[in-house]
Amino acid sequence: MSREYALDRYRNIGIIAHIDAGKTTTTERILFYAGKTYRIGSVDDGTTVTDWMVQERERGITIVSAAVSAEWKGYQINLIDTPGHIDFTAEVQRSLRVLDGGVVVFDATQGVEPQSETVWRQADRYKVPRICFINKMDRVGASFEGSIQSIKDRLGANPIAMQLPIGFEAAFKGAVDLVTMKAILFEDELGKEPIVTDIPADLVKEAEEARAKMIEQVAELDDDLIVKYLENEPISEEELKAALRRAVIASKATAVFCGSSLKNKGVQPLIDAVVDYLPSPLDVPAVKGTHAKTGEEIERHPDDDAPASALVFKIVTDPYVGRLAYIRVYSGVVKQGGQLLNPGKDKKERVGRLIRMYADRREDIEEVRAGDIAAILGLKYSFTGDTLSDSDKPIVLESISFPEPVISVA
Ligand code: GDP
Repeated sequence: MSREYALDRYRNIGIIAHIDAGKTTTTERILFYAGKTYRIGSVDDGTTVTDWMVQERERGITIVSAAVSAEWKGYQINLIDTPGHIDFTAEVQRSLRVLDGGVVVFDATQGVEPQSETVWRQADRYKVPRICFINKMDRVGASFEGSIQSIKDRLGANPIAMQLPIGFEAAFKGAVDLVTMKAILFEDELGKEPIVTDIPADLVKEAEEARAKMIEQVAELDDDLIVKYLENEPISEEELKAALRRAVIASKATAVFCGSSLKNKGVQPLIDAVVDYLPSPLDVPAVKGTHAKTGEEIERHPDDDAPASALVFKIVTDPYVGRLAYIRVYSGVVKQGGQLLNPGKDKKERVGRLIRMYADRREDIEEVRAGDIAAILGLKYSFTGDTLSDSDKPIVLESISFPEPVISVA
């Protein structure tokens, strides 16, 4: 069986946010738009979102499952849950260990808050490339500019505004895409596609200035682009996006977008940005580990033909199916019915069932390939942080360290 998606079409990401910034709402909206099954039997037959969410909860699958898969324009997006509360610092680190990129959600009226600072530092520590979503743009006192400034000042990051908001507070309507120089206007109604149109006349000058600033910021970070920029040569949209992608993946910059997830505004461009700017498993460094017996250092690449290696990042007892071990596969293929070694415990484990979680259903799958995420049912000895590996080529992946929680003071 070959892959449904090429490896460069996977995005293992987490939505990272301080509590109350809108992580749940943003995640729900992403899953609404990207969870293809939602369209069937929800919007089409007129079921309201709220009803639909209640139904999902009753069925016992919540969007805060440890990892949920969705599909967007031919890409598989695996959303890994990252707890937002300070008490879960160790848990945040566990999930940061297995994701390749993050969307950091901020409240536009608050900008950077103490707890967003904490998670940002943790993401720095694990070198997780990030893009930012300035949410709640509809609220009184919302400021895209101010939020970006606080990302710069308080986080010492290099934010690059990729949009210019259209309308303020209650009149927030959409955003100018500074790459395409088109206005994207959103309808309040969930499920409606945004209208792509010309930039409103009164915003043209501001948008041009914002675009020039964005290009300059991106060019400064890219050896190829800076030459063109300085020579005043035309820079195509593709070149610009590719250069920004390199900068974000190298954690030299973070691309910033705006919206209001509660009002269904700005979410589709955000998912596009996940695909455009966050890394695939091929873009991140090979995972390191040690040979379970000899202690020799080994690197594993996201290659289906390599010996299997996977990390258990969360154990969940699901009331319906039992003990689920969420794994990220780093190399090789984990097969349903197959056997793996837990080298740390020196125990053989049988892969009973392999399950992919969607927001509204579970699906049994036959295998999970390098770079992908799924849950195993039937493991007896393995816990969070354990490695599972090919029995003949045992590797223990770099363990997750749990330093003292970082407590930030308001
Ligand atoms: P979480 O704690 O980060 O998961 O945040 P939630 O998604 O639960 O949102 C926190 C509160 O903010 C809830 O009352 C939401 O309804 C509200 N909220 C989320 N997004 C927006 C938004 O874009 N605009 C407004 N006005 N409220 C929002």
